[in-house]
Amino acid sequence: MTGIVYKSTGSWYTIKTENGEFLECRIKGKFRMKGIKSTNPIAVGDVVDYDIENTTDETTGVITTIHDRKNYIVRKSVNLSHQVHIIAANIDVVFLLVTINNPPTTTSFIDRFLVTAEAYGIEAIIVFNKIDTFDEATLDEQLYLQHIYSSIGYQCLRISAQTGKGIDELKALMKDKVSMFSGHSGVGKSTLVNTLEPTLNLKTKQISSSHAQGQHTTTFAEMFDLSFGAKIIDTPGIRGFGIVDMEKQEIGDYFPEFFALKDQCKFNNCLHKDEPHCAVKAALEKDEIAWSRYKSYIQILEGDDEQYRADIYDA
Ligand code: GDP
Ligand code: ZN
Repeated sequence: MTGIVYKSTGSWYTIKTENGEFLECRIKGKFRMKGIKSTNPIAVGDVVDYDIENTTDETTGVITTIHDRKNYIVRKSVNLSHQVHIIAANIDVVFLLVTINNPPTTTSFIDRFLVTAEAYGIEAIIVFNKIDTFDEATLDEQLYLQHIYSSIGYQCLRISAQTGKGIDELKALMKDKVSMFSGHSGVGKSTLVNTLEPTLNLKTKQISSSHAQGQHTTTFAEMFDLSFGAKIIDTPGIRGFGIVDMEKQEIGDYFPEFFALKDQCKFNNCLHKDEPHCAVKAALEKDEIAWSRYKSYIQILEGDDEQYRADIYDA
């Protein structure tokens, strides 16, 4: 029998079975996924096979197999240097909530996020929130950003979690999929989830500072079914993706507009930095590539990620 993991808190996993019931399961013996050294063998979103175990007073399950993951996101485990903690698996789409003001979302943050989504192989959609507050200057800035990102292939949405504008369009994109929401603290994630499903009370905001001790806190993700046929994964205390270890060489591949030009660079290992006859830099000079994107690229290339880490995890 097959089920989906909705919650995992240490040794027990709550799975939703094919009949739509929840079943507490454990795993027997050593359980290791090929190729990953992780502190947890199974994560929220995993599809698993299980057997029923009947004892005198309760029915539980034993997980026997994990199906191959289409993707998964991790955060580094601090104590065990080469291990990661798998936060969630099999995510269809991640929505990055962006606000222009209150709080401002920088292009550097957006670009790092998108690069990581590309590296993980997860579709990212940019959701500009709080459009009800826009004055003319804010609107200009938002439309400019939307132009940059939609022209390189990222779907952009404009919503107000408060007034409900754009919410139906968002729901349509979430239907029949597993979604995650990310974005700075204060961009409106809780408000949005509340607008999408008023009866659902997520933990996103409930991490108290006494529980969240720096980056080392283990946070447990959880999956929820929404009434309009969508699933969301809530990741308390995490506002973005952890950094994936990337080779310098591959970073440019996660900028779609750079990747498209790569074959036209003189050197096939071009880092688009100081090399002669670089098609990316030529496009940049002609304003065909946004300077903000190039700046973000150089930051990532130079391994400057302290601010980003501070931005995505509860301090
Ligand atoms: P989170 O930290 O991302 O979960 O953000 P919250 O949902 O707590 O929202 C932060 C603040 O922004 C709250 O005061 C919300 O009422 C406000 N807010 C969220 N969405 C909107 C919106 O679409 N328009 C306006 N005007 N305010 C919003
Ligand atoms: Zn180049």
